[in-house]
Amino acid sequence: AADVDVDLKSLVRTIPDYPKPGIMFRDITTLIGDAAGLRSAVERLVEPYRDANIQAVAGIEARGFILGGAVAEKLNCGFIPIRKKGKLPYTAIGQDYELEYGIDVIEIHQDAIAAGERVLLIDDLIATGGTAEAAAKLLRKLDANLVGAAFVIDLPDLGGCARLASLGVKCHTLIGFE
Ligand code: AMP
Repeated sequence: AADVDVDLKSLVRTIPDYPKPGIMFRDITTLIGDAAGLRSAVERLVEPYRDANIQAVAGIEARGFILGGAVAEKLNCGFIPIRKKGKLPYTAIGQDYELEYGIDVIEIHQDAIAAGERVLLIDDLIATGGTAEAAAKLLRKLDANLVGAAFVIDLPDLGGCARLASLGVKCHTLIGFE
């Protein structure tokens, strides 16, 4: 209960104009660097899924690895990395997605998930939802049962959770920034 009182929003550092002009970068290094902040964020990410029989947590490189690893440990399941192209050592499948300028590719190991496995997707932040959508498509290519997607930060004006909802993916977020 004490964890619920931690003000996660005040632990996020905002860096204007990073990595380029006009972007307000929401930096979670200050949140995860704080013992109570990290513990509270992980507890609150896990909370809706305690009895959801999650069989694997998939995290998106790189900040989704930190949170996803902790969430997987709490849910007593394994962790699956979704990485930028060319980083995974074994046979991988890829999914491209649009960036503001150009396209990018994320990958997952082809044998990372058994068909029908109940998977929870984790990242630090959802903005347009493009990255999470690509991750959801990868998981579905492996016939995962994507139970939900959870993020510490939502930027609701950018519509990411609505985009995931239109794909049938339920979104859970802890704090929002305009
Ligand atoms: P998107 O695909 O637009 O939903 O962007 C989500 C991904 O980009 C996540 O992996 C975030 O870590 C990162 N990201 C996007 N916008 C921001 C922001 N304003 N501050 C920090 N990270 C961001």
